[in-house]
Amino acid sequence: MASSKSSKFVYFFGGKKADGKADMKALLGGKGANLAEMVNIGIPVPAGFTISTDVCTYYYKSKNTYPKELKKQVTEALARVEKVMGAKFGDKNNPLLLSIRSGARASMPGMMDTILNLGLNDVTVEGVIKKTNNPRFAYDSYRRFVQMYGDVVLGLKPVDKKDHDPFEVLLEKKKADRKVQFDTELTAEDLKELVAEFKAEIKAKTGKNFPSNPEEQLWGAVGAVFGSWMNDRAIIYRKLNGIPESWGTAVNVQSMVFGNMGMDSGTGVAFTRDAASGENIFYGEYLFNAQGEDVVAGIRTPLPISDLKKDNPRIYKELDGYRKTLEKHYTDMMDVEFTIQQGKLWMLQCRVGKRTGLAAVKIALDMVEEKLISKEEALLRIEPNQLNQLLRPVFDNKEKQKAIADGKLLAKGLNAGPGAASGKVALSAEDAYKMAEKGDKVILVRIETSPEDIKGMNASEGILTARGGMTSHAALVARQMGKVCVAGCGKLLIDYHAGTIKVEGKDIVVKEGEYISIDGTTGEVIVGKINTKPSEVVEVLINKTLDPKKSKVYRQYASLMKWADEYRRLGIRTNADQPDQALNAVAFGAEGIGLCRTEHMFFGGDRILSVRKMIVSDTVEERKAALSEILPYQREDFYGIFKAMKGRPVTIRTLDPPLHEFLPHQEKEIKELASALNISVEKVKAKIESLHEFNPMLGFRGCRLGVMYPEITEMQARAIFEAAAKAMKEGIKVKPEIMVPLVSDVKELKLQKDIIDAQAKAVMAEKKVKIHYMVGTMIELPRAALVADEIATLAEFFSFGTNDLTQTTFGLSRDDAGMFLPKYVEREILPNDPFEALDQNGVGKLVEIGVQKGRSTRKDLKIGICGEHGGEPSSVEFCHRAGLNYVSCSPFRVPIARLAAARAVVAERAAAKKSKKK
Ligand code: ADP
Ligand code: MG
Ligand code: MG
Repeated sequence: MASSKSSKFVYFFGGKKADGKADMKALLGGKGANLAEMVNIGIPVPAGFTISTDVCTYYYKSKNTYPKELKKQVTEALARVEKVMGAKFGDKNNPLLLSIRSGARASMPGMMDTILNLGLNDVTVEGVIKKTNNPRFAYDSYRRFVQMYGDVVLGLKPVDKKDHDPFEVLLEKKKADRKVQFDTELTAEDLKELVAEFKAEIKAKTGKNFPSNPEEQLWGAVGAVFGSWMNDRAIIYRKLNGIPESWGTAVNVQSMVFGNMGMDSGTGVAFTRDAASGENIFYGEYLFNAQGEDVVAGIRTPLPISDLKKDNPRIYKELDGYRKTLEKHYTDMMDVEFTIQQGKLWMLQCRVGKRTGLAAVKIALDMVEEKLISKEEALLRIEPNQLNQLLRPVFDNKEKQKAIADGKLLAKGLNAGPGAASGKVALSAEDAYKMAEKGDKVILVRIETSPEDIKGMNASEGILTARGGMTSHAALVARQMGKVCVAGCGKLLIDYHAGTIKVEGKDIVVKEGEYISIDGTTGEVIVGKINTKPSEVVEVLINKTLDPKKSKVYRQYASLMKWADEYRRLGIRTNADQPDQALNAVAFGAEGIGLCRTEHMFFGGDRILSVRKMIVSDTVEERKAALSEILPYQREDFYGIFKAMKGRPVTIRTLDPPLHEFLPHQEKEIKELASALNISVEKVKAKIESLHEFNPMLGFRGCRLGVMYPEITEMQARAIFEAAAKAMKEGIKVKPEIMVPLVSDVKELKLQKDIIDAQAKAVMAEKKVKIHYMVGTMIELPRAALVADEIATLAEFFSFGTNDLTQTTFGLSRDDAGMFLPKYVEREILPNDPFEALDQNGVGKLVEIGVQKGRSTRKDLKIGICGEHGGEPSSVEFCHRAGLNYVSCSPFRVPIARLAAARAVVAERAAAKKSKKK
């Protein structure tokens, strides 16, 4: 398949011209495409070539083999690289060394391994020495190569969480033997010995000799990169980020440049703006005389980029120039890697930088002001779920200050991921995952993190590391996941074996499982638990404890929401059962209630007793008597909600759950009920028994209750209209929309609507008011969607109940799906959990049918959605395309839904423009 598409598998870059460019990410991966782009815009990049993702696809389809054309194309490209760089691969006098870098379409930071200095062996190393007159450098490069190759290609890794990296053990031993602290202090001779020791270790552990032939090394490394596409951490990363397995990775083969050639050399990483706050400042870190991952791995603590300005103003100026060129060219905040080899600057990577939600909002707003991007573009730049970070809690400052005053401040690290988190200490990712599974809030504490830790990081509230800077693995991943993170907290002494954290010069010991609190905004690490408090946005909008003028974060949030509202067509409502919830949602921008579940009101105070009395009744009269006790409560509840909503529409659903859910199940409670109702325990038990269902989800529930017991609907309708009349008398506008659940046939709706209309008429006559109301239905059964045209003859509105519609379409119960559904997602049988993101392909079709059929009967039928999906961005976009009038979601998701709805419009316009051009 792949080979028929195109027979070009290898794309050269270097000098002044590249075969590829930025928009070829699908074929060249992100890294390869951007390396090509940098070459094309005149930025110095070491020459190399990219082996395309088609080869990866081929590799997995063809039992780990390559297309036959590949070898020749690689040889040709390599010859071009040799020409540009003026060195020859495998040459004993003037050897070209290579780096082998993976690079998928979407960036997967640290997910797959890079091999540096490839091409070294006992012969070529002499060539390097001759060329550089620097034996120490040559052997340092050599030992790194053997180490990386041994790890990545030959599989010499630590076996479990307490095991150490076999190469690190040897390196540490060498340093101890030589009585030195840093690897930079080891001599050429020491390093040469290490190379031999590393090779011996490889031989001992694998039984194989280290390959000395450069060609063999190259193909071994290429195979390892393709192989790493299917390693556990790559698979987990793809799962977490929704990257399809079919994309594959590309392999970049690039000439080496060396940051470890002495003090006029170095390596670094930078963001063109601050990735945590979004501030427009150059943000980065670098190390002198270092190579590759030294900066990220936190071997030595890196220097801030501002130091480079003092240390080497010429290089700094050049780098800062590329910063500006890149931002202008890509019109986005970029993340770059660079290396300085003996005073010459080389750019090794650029990509759009990951950022916190806070930074995403600030950068997008700033870039509109700087005229780099349009408002539409700004809306597309912010992932709706990133807004969670603006709504996220911070520590209660008084409590934190008290803890600090009490001497509980352990240490201070870097403020790598904003927000506040408190939880139990886990010292390995595995433990973090297990503890979180049990329901604990966890803070993962590590000396440093690595890609293996992803799953545990994802399960934790926050991440704390002893080593590494703002661009360390922990910091990058935490920001992307939206986790709180304090990195590089160098004072922490973490002992994995003892399971303790200590601090230099303090006699505090924190054990695994004990509470710790981290402030990702200030970098503080505090012993014990500290309560968190709402974000500034929440303080301004909900608690009204902060003056909006005093909160920059709030003002940015507000501008963004204003733009979103200018674009979106979808209305946004909320699911709320109580006045306080409704008010929160209105503060977040909700325009009405899309779902008020009446049954939640049945449990409060003494009401449950009346409800139970109603259920155990034998006659209609008894039942009506019990219902009349409930009526005043319901009326007050509805009145409260109408009052809070001030004339905004309120959709109230009539009773939905099976009656069984309201009955007691414990002996003691059953006895209490019997005596309260003055009936026998046996009778209560018999009633409970008679209401037992094998499958309550598909049983006696929804409108079926109101059909069998019309008096229940009657009472609820009366309570709604009486509440409406009361509010209207006080000058409050009301817009009740009464919604009948679980309808599968129009006749069910007819029976319920007749009752509701009759009550409306009666109450209006009694109270002498005219109430405008609507009666509609939920569409939550496949049959309802299929006969929506008939249902719409009576229904004045539809609301898709996508939780039940998903259950009934898939024929699975959400409560019982835990056994297999996560595995389905893991194995890509389903792209994601259909209860989280609407299954557009299946359930979505029923939604489309329902919309089309409903409107074929009633042209301007108002249609919404009130399932959990109403606040999930991809589902919101679907609802827009399906032509719904509104989505309804939980209060804290309202801002997310507003942004998602606006993005749907922007995306739609962009698509229309594109098709017009064609
Ligand atoms: P990742 O995808 O994990 O970022 P990279 O392919 O960027 O992996 O490689 C990791 C590091 O290795 C880079 O940040 C850079 O420091 C170093 N490196 C990669 N290629 C080269 C090269 N051609 N010359 C010098 N250093 C390199
Ligand atoms: Mg990189
Ligand atoms: Mg339902």
